[in-house]
Amino acid sequence: MAVKYDAVVVGAGVAGLSFATRMAGYGYRVVVLESANPEHLGHDWWDTIELRSFDVLGLARPEPPEARTPFTFKMNVLGRTYPVVARMPDDMVNVERRLLATRMVRWATQADVEIRFGCHVTGPILENGRCKGVTLATAGDHAARVKAPLTIDASGAAAVLRRRFDPAVAARWGFETEIPPESFMHTWRGIATDTSVGGDSVICMGQGNSTSWISREPDGLVDIFAGSLGGSRGAEDPETVAMDMIARQGGIGDWVRPGTSAVIPLRRPFDGIVAPGFMLLGDSACMANPINGSGMTVAIDAAIIAADTAHDAMMKGRFEASDLWSYPRDFFRANAELAFLDALKSFVFSAPRDPMLDFFRQGGLRGPAFWKMRPEFGPAGFAAKAGAFARTKGAAALLPPMAGTLTRAAIAERHMALYPSSPSGFNQWKAIRRRITG
Ligand SMILES: Cc1cc2nc3c(=O)[nH]c(=O)nc-3n(C[C@H](O)[C@H](O)[C@H](O)COP(=O)(O)OP(=O)(O)OC[C@H]3O[C@@H](n4cnc5c(N)ncnc54)[C@H](O)[C@@H]3O)c2cc1C
Repeated sequence: MAVKYDAVVVGAGVAGLSFATRMAGYGYRVVVLESANPEHLGHDWWDTIELRSFDVLGLARPEPPEARTPFTFKMNVLGRTYPVVARMPDDMVNVERRLLATRMVRWATQADVEIRFGCHVTGPILENGRCKGVTLATAGDHAARVKAPLTIDASGAAAVLRRRFDPAVAARWGFETEIPPESFMHTWRGIATDTSVGGDSVICMGQGNSTSWISREPDGLVDIFAGSLGGSRGAEDPETVAMDMIARQGGIGDWVRPGTSAVIPLRRPFDGIVAPGFMLLGDSACMANPINGSGMTVAIDAAIIAADTAHDAMMKGRFEASDLWSYPRDFFRANAELAFLDALKSFVFSAPRDPMLDFFRQGGLRGPAFWKMRPEFGPAGFAAKAGAFARTKGAAALLPPMAGTLTRAAIAERHMALYPSSPSGFNQWKAIRRRITG
């Protein structure tokens, strides 16, 4: 007889495992379906995460070698290095993604989450606009089904359920099935040994509409990243950008981990993230920070809210959108800054370039801004830029679009914080949001 699950989760990434483990802690039977094998889970590099995310999950904070030494960057804009030095904030840590993934799998399994690896999900089971589970491809190409009253798409940028949802149902609940290419950052990442002496860690901005960095770690490893916003004018293949940067920055030694391509959805927040019997979580819901692409901390916060909402729905035995509504309400109200950052991103890519670069050089962007962009452009952060503006050549061209953007961004953020308490106010809220975001 088929096993009865309370919830089926697609994807054993940070988002899916965080949700599933909290649900298992409430005593529910949860299955996580993951297409990769355990040894290929996570990414083959290290990423920055807020330390509090581990506390929120009840997972021990990482230790070396999973935790890596914090680093310091210099900023290079279009080939010139500026005296902006960015030190990673103390409340953040760089983690080896493979080691974190392995530890999270062990943690989830110990909490009685069932994880099925090598299990490729092909789409949602939809009946009258309601999600009833998922379909799978199994060996020999036989289709199989896993049914549950609640289905979670935590399949990352692949968004395998969202993309196969009925577009009319998705639109009714405020998310899109497909998102445009310019909403993805295409990235390339590799790790090498450093043979150069005394090289700096450098973050480069503005080459081929891309961002890239060479981060030289104290243990002699070098992290090389390049990312280009897909669809933007002049966007280059990120691997080419990385090679160009390496050629200009000096030696990086031999490759110890081959370069890997991946995408980050830098998308403005959807209007909604639930439908009857269905929740979107993590990258599949484009929850990554629209400016710097960090998504782990946001996904973990969202997973907690989603699991607590799911627990309430399970207690009632009802899975209508209205029963799941506290998830988008609490998530968007707590993360209204995503709307602010999305508006800011449009400015970063459209601002008059020369004054913008001079503004950076005059100290208009402080180091920690790379990680903490929202406080940087809050009232206090903005006021602190007055001196840099005064020294910037061409500030007159920069100030009006920047002031306009920040005003729009603040309005978008305030509206996001007014996310409706129930589906009855949703259409009106969406209509106002469309007027704000265009
Ligand atoms: C180069 C790069 C640098 C980044 N740097 C940072 C950073 O410094 N800090 C930060 O917080 N974030 C960073 N991010 C973003 C971060 O990696 C994501 O936001 C985060 O991993 C999202 O987690 P997730 O669980 O939603 O998705 P994922 O981690 O992508 O997990 C999704 C899982 O679903 C599985 N899956 C996909 N399709 C199927 C299917 N059909 N059937 C079954 N399983 C499936 C995948 O195999 C995967 O294991 C970076 C991303 C990239 C690409």
